[in-house]
Amino acid sequence: MKTNSFEFAYEVYDSIEELQKGDAALLETARAITVQAYAPYSRFFVGASVKLDNGQLLSGTNQENASFPAGICAERTVLAAVSSVYPGAVIHAMAISFRSAGAASNHPISPCGICRQSLIEQEKRQQAPIRIILGGQVGPIFIISSMNHLLPFSFTGEELDKG
Ligand SMILES: [Zn+2]
Repeated sequence: MKTNSFEFAYEVYDSIEELQKGDAALLETARAITVQAYAPYSRFFVGASVKLDNGQLLSGTNQENASFPAGICAERTVLAAVSSVYPGAVIHAMAISFRSAGAASNHPISPCGICRQSLIEQEKRQQAPIRIILGGQVGPIFIISSMNHLLPFSFTGEELDKG
């Protein structure tokens, strides 16, 4: 028997002022788009913005539903938009922010499990890492160099029979 371990390094910034200009702009976009979330049930408003290799920025927000499972997270909203509007585009980075009726938005949040799975699929599809920028409306920011770090031992299409 042997024991393996998994660890990864990520960047921590005290505030948005420390970020590179492009990263700061993307996070500002994600922060701002949170006001367009439709989240009357959770009152947890999330924004996700992406920078593409064609220079375009796209954003998504969470969209809830009275039939709760019908809702969709901000991250998957924008992933679907990228694939629909700019098929084949490579996502260089995704910034994710939030505001909440019940808690201060002064710390990073990270994608839920379903979104991690969707982001891994996009990374495999584009064969390039997606940098993930996580931050609240204020406060510290985390930057993770690849989704691979956030979903170790991920399930991918490599095991599926593609006939
Ligand atoms: Zn999610």
